[in-house]
Amino acid sequence: MIRVTVWNEFFHERTEENVKKVYPNGIHNAIKDFLGTNEDIVVKTATLCDENCGITDELLAETDVMIWWGHVKHGDVPDEIAIKVKEAVLGGMGIIFLHSAHHSKVFKLLMGTTCNLGWRESNDKERLWILDHNHPIMQGIEGRYFELEAEETYSEPFGIPDPDKLLMIGWYNGGEVFRSGCVWHRENGKVFYFQPGHETFPTFYNENVQKIITNAVRWAAPVCPKIKLECPWVARIEEK
Ligand code: ZN
Repeated sequence: MIRVTVWNEFFHERTEENVKKVYPNGIHNAIKDFLGTNEDIVVKTATLCDENCGITDELLAETDVMIWWGHVKHGDVPDEIAIKVKEAVLGGMGIIFLHSAHHSKVFKLLMGTTCNLGWRESNDKERLWILDHNHPIMQGIEGRYFELEAEETYSEPFGIPDPDKLLMIGWYNGGEVFRSGCVWHRENGKVFYFQPGHETFPTFYNENVQKIITNAVRWAAPVCPKIKLECPWVARIEEK
């Protein structure tokens, strides 16, 4: 079984009627609902409303893949919690950052850059172009592209280190393009950034979005026990 923890700041869904309407139980539960239909995946959730953001050493030890959604409350996640999550990733925990999680402390720690980008809320349509149909994360996504009726526009330049592999480019009918699906390896951990998922749009109910997140969970899950790299003195293996 792949053990997933979905973390959400869970703020807009409690404070804004138009968001509550789209995600009445929170974005974390919308993600839990579709992931939980898979027999090989078990899902827990944690939010900013929980003590210590709901993130403990025990939870991290029992999480194979973490999914992160945040927007306006990145600063409320204590540095020591963000560092704990980053270290869990280096030790082999997979992590998926969704949409505005590009500015989360954990993503910035893993990237080492500003992670800045251009943005606009103008209900533009997004067309997501698939660059590599043979990558595990893109499995089952048919056609050269798929479309989302409305998304927040994100624009290049995106202040990230070059991804190990670029899987999708988003094009918006306002004219911008954006690196919408990126993967990196960080020590033993796998990282996926996926751009769609603005809180006022029903993006997480879209079949292709759900398929991509589900595929990403399976791709990011560690294939061996999580291991923290040390810096040991090592003896010769061969005789002189
Ligand atoms: Zn947004």
